[in-house]
Amino acid sequence: MRLRSLSTLKRPEPREVPLAALPRAITMAAQALEKAFRINEMVLAVHGESLEWYGFTLGLVEQPDFVADIGLPQNDLNLTVYAGLSAETIARFQESLPKGTLINGWIHSHGALTVKDFSRTDARNHEVVLDFVGASLKRPVAKREVPVRDLALLVRDRYAPQDLAKGTVAIITDAPITEAVILETVYGSWCFAVVVGDDGWHRQEIHYREYGILSGQARVSHGDAELVLVGAGGEWSHSDSRSLREEVERKVRPNKNPPLETLERM
Ligand SMILES: [Zn+2]
Repeated sequence: MRLRSLSTLKRPEPREVPLAALPRAITMAAQALEKAFRINEMVLAVHGESLEWYGFTLGLVEQPDFVADIGLPQNDLNLTVYAGLSAETIARFQESLPKGTLINGWIHSHGALTVKDFSRTDARNHEVVLDFVGASLKRPVAKREVPVRDLALLVRDRYAPQDLAKGTVAIITDAPITEAVILETVYGSWCFAVVVGDDGWHRQEIHYREYGILSGQARVSHGDAELVLVGAGGEWSHSDSRSLREEVERKVRPNKNPPLETLERM
């Protein structure tokens, strides 16, 4: 007897019904990007040199996909701070935000560095940020079939304890049925990542995580993302500039002798 080709033996693909999409581009208020470049200028003006700093992209609870502003936390080791970006740092900053504002990603500057892209050091931080913000940005993105081989269908009050030994998964219903399809919710979350430099360049990525609530099947991915600016650049008054300068003086400070292992590796 000839074997049938493997393709004919393949089980059909489990069905998947999309529910909602995750952002594929970063929509940001033009003012927020401008603020990032202003921070670069302020750092140079205050410290006389370019320093790498990091901040968070901020959205609103009702508009979590939109970057409305950039938040600057207390940077404690500029040059490389974010090498140590931790859940505690993010949590502390999140607590300081007004109600209704949430963190939807992170932004950092490479200052005058010639590397105009994310480095390997940054990769770890993407994970930390995604882990933290993913919980508040989570949404159901699909219903996906959980294929079950040997499903045991039992009827309430009408099965014996030994019936539970049958099958790989058992479903107990209130009336007899002969067939069942199990669909799990797939939750998706994401975080934005933006890197900027003194010359006015910027690069963006979005990092994604999806997991099936029943199967526990998880998938992480990321991709380059276009930056879509909304609105015009802001009018920067003297007092805006003064308060940003004051913030930069307080939160971004050079560390002249950073431990070698925290230096960003290219
Ligand atoms: Zn970097």
